[in-house]
Amino acid sequence: MGKMVYFFGEKGKESKPLLGGKGANLGEMTKIGLPVPPGFTISTQVCMDFLKEKKYPKGLEKEINSNIEKLEKRSKRKFGDERHPLLVSVRSGAPVSMPGMMDSILNLGLNNRTVKGIERESKNSRFAWDSYRRFIQMFGDVVLGVEHSKFEKILDKYKRGRNDTDLSTEELKKIVEEYKKIITSEGKRFPQDPREQLKMAIDAVFNSWNNKRARIYRKLHGIPEDVGTAVNIQVMVFGNLGWDSGTGVGFTRNPSTGENKPYGEYLMNAQGEDVVAGIRTPKGIEELRKDSPKVYQELMKVYEILDKHYRDMQDFEFTIEKGNLFTLQTRTGKRTAQAAVKIAVDMVKEKLIKKEEAIMRIEPEQIDQLLHKQLDPKEKERARVIAKGLPASPGAAVGIVCFSAERAEELAKKGKVILVRNETSPEDIQGMAVSQGILTARGGMTSHAAVVGRGMGKCCVVGCGDISIDEEKDMFTVRNLRIKEGDWITLDGGTGEVFIGKFKLVDPEMRGEFQILMNWADGIRKLGVRTNADTPKDSERAREFGSEGIGLARTEHMFFEGERIRTMREMIIADDSEGRRKALAKLLPMQKKDFIGIFKAMNGLPVTIRLLDPPLHEFLPKEDKEVRKMAREMRVKFKALKNKISSLAEFNPMLGFRGCRLGVVYPEITEMQTDAIIGAAIEVNRSGGEALPEIEIPVLSDVEEATFLRKIIEDAAKKLIEKNRVKVNYKVGTMIELPRACVTADKLSKEFDFFSFGTNDLTQTVYGFSRDDAGKFIPKYIEKGILETDPFQVIDRKGVGSLMKICVNLARKTNPRIEIGICGEHGGEKNSIEFCHLIGLDYVSCSPFRVPIARLAAAQAKIKNG
Ligand code: PEP
Ligand code: MG
Repeated sequence: MGKMVYFFGEKGKESKPLLGGKGANLGEMTKIGLPVPPGFTISTQVCMDFLKEKKYPKGLEKEINSNIEKLEKRSKRKFGDERHPLLVSVRSGAPVSMPGMMDSILNLGLNNRTVKGIERESKNSRFAWDSYRRFIQMFGDVVLGVEHSKFEKILDKYKRGRNDTDLSTEELKKIVEEYKKIITSEGKRFPQDPREQLKMAIDAVFNSWNNKRARIYRKLHGIPEDVGTAVNIQVMVFGNLGWDSGTGVGFTRNPSTGENKPYGEYLMNAQGEDVVAGIRTPKGIEELRKDSPKVYQELMKVYEILDKHYRDMQDFEFTIEKGNLFTLQTRTGKRTAQAAVKIAVDMVKEKLIKKEEAIMRIEPEQIDQLLHKQLDPKEKERARVIAKGLPASPGAAVGIVCFSAERAEELAKKGKVILVRNETSPEDIQGMAVSQGILTARGGMTSHAAVVGRGMGKCCVVGCGDISIDEEKDMFTVRNLRIKEGDWITLDGGTGEVFIGKFKLVDPEMRGEFQILMNWADGIRKLGVRTNADTPKDSERAREFGSEGIGLARTEHMFFEGERIRTMREMIIADDSEGRRKALAKLLPMQKKDFIGIFKAMNGLPVTIRLLDPPLHEFLPKEDKEVRKMAREMRVKFKALKNKISSLAEFNPMLGFRGCRLGVVYPEITEMQTDAIIGAAIEVNRSGGEALPEIEIPVLSDVEEATFLRKIIEDAAKKLIEKNRVKVNYKVGTMIELPRACVTADKLSKEFDFFSFGTNDLTQTVYGFSRDDAGKFIPKYIEKGILETDPFQVIDRKGVGSLMKICVNLARKTNPRIEIGICGEHGGEKNSIEFCHLIGLDYVSCSPFRVPIARLAAAQAKIKNG
């Protein structure tokens, strides 16, 4: 192995893989002249070698020793010296931030003799013994493995409800003795030799790479096993030297709102983790102006230097030692979606970054949070979190709790409710619809509550195992709290947090910056973005979100409601064409009305309307009770109806009598739908609007189906247009959902004006995975590493994607003007959107709430790939 140890400043922020995030940034801060106490970093390579060989690589000890010597020279102190002892901190630092590993040991180098040296030198006995007791506690806990709570218990005994700063030297000395006894009673030994302390601490950092929490964290976040952690050893500076000393954390901008104003907290006379651990309540950074004006000025300079140098919001740690400021760590700060957008846009205005960089910095999924109501960030700081579940559907919700869908419906008439269930089922839909938000104790991100919540654009927190529901008593308990029906709670569906009480919600304040960022994205992206919507309301919403048209209106969705389903059923079970035409005549005006609404909402923009594609079984009753009811309503015999329904049953409805097969067998359906579409367009155009219908055929596999159906559509349209003498610009196209359609695209494209990939069905038919059943085994495939991701969510580039590419090339060869889009679920997923950009599609289409995500992802695809 080559060089193993690097003194701070030898390398900078680009060397994260070698020195870890903390080490690389300490090096960087040293380089740019910030007041970093001297130190050095042992590389991540050493960690991996040590874990493999179970011993230090040759020469490591020598390198460590010569670096310690450097620290001794710089600090004019000596390791283990009784008069001027050198004390160091030892901290881990992997290339990616990774909770679970050993964090820090402070004050290493203290022992029974050096503590007295510190005492004499500082003329501050309290400080010396406080540092020693902290060191034994940390070392005992993280290196020797003595339970943290055992130390805390002793400390609490002496504190007797006072602050830690109130402990006297005598008390601290007693604590030290008791700490040592605890360690011995556990059969462990606290080493007095500083070199031995250091070696043991380094070993503990390396070994913590493999502890259980760290391993689970890596697995969850896809962090490779062979990265390793670095170890940082640094000269101590002391925030606990008295009331002119202190420690704190700073954010160069506000991490919850993004406001460009220094933000942070500090504690005087405290060390290291005290701020985060919350032993005393920290003060806001503004107050330091009074506590220590000189340090405040210096600190403000540090804020500015870090923010400008890193060109991003930094989260850093500092310590004040007797009025001198030191910076101890910096990293890119975590932030809310709102803050992320504001910071990115502001930094472009401040000429720190380019538009492209601003766009690349925002995680498309994250902006989902901005489209919904939010908890007022100011209130959120004060709100008390009582539980945390999975953030299934973003936005915030406030309401009184209730425990059944029926109660939700009753109580929602009077006010705002939050439905709390162990899990939800289809019977709860009405109750969910009237609730502000949904909270479930069980279930994952794809549970019923999660999927329905997202579909409704409703705040939803699922799998909140912290709460236990007692349905009998209409209450849930969490820790020691009991929340009963009628009590107010607030949910944050973007983080999964549950708060007790009623908090103010705000419309996303960020409209300004959000709009600016979106406009930049629109200026860059090549892909168009449309929406999948079946109602005028959804269409309007999508248009507000920037949709450039409708890429898919599923007409069968329009028949699920009330009266309509009855007529639809009449049509399905009709014995002959005449019976069907009769039912269709009743359906026509209903469809026409819907289309008029959609055309108006999308005035001047293309609207793709797909001809009926109903899995028939979804429309027919299954239970005898329901069949009997339907028979009564339709005035037919129960037996006859039952027989008819069973004759329609299919072994495999997904591959059965659906899609264009329906139109081929019953052309009158295609005729009626064309009449409704063109009729609606005529009405809209006649009243001064501009309808641009695109009639689309589903589940098509053969060019003969194409010519047959196209003729029916064109004849019907021509008749109506000529009769009314109103011009309608319409197109005819097809869904591409079957492998056969992909490989015969050169023939199909001659028949059509547009194609749209239905990648839900295409994935189903390419893999041979049933859409409705794959949920049972795909998670297992992912767990075993056979599939990397769910192909129904992220496009399988190698299989489904290859076919799409073949299809696009064949289609454009014979019809260069053909327009090609995608309307499967993948149209709203960033990785799939990138693929669509790469194969040169014209647009993606996704659900209304995903439209902004798609706009951003499309811009990112362009920036990334040119
Ligand atoms: C598809 O198959 O991808 C599609 C959009 O159609 P549906 O989901 O309605 O089958
Ligand atoms: Mg389909």
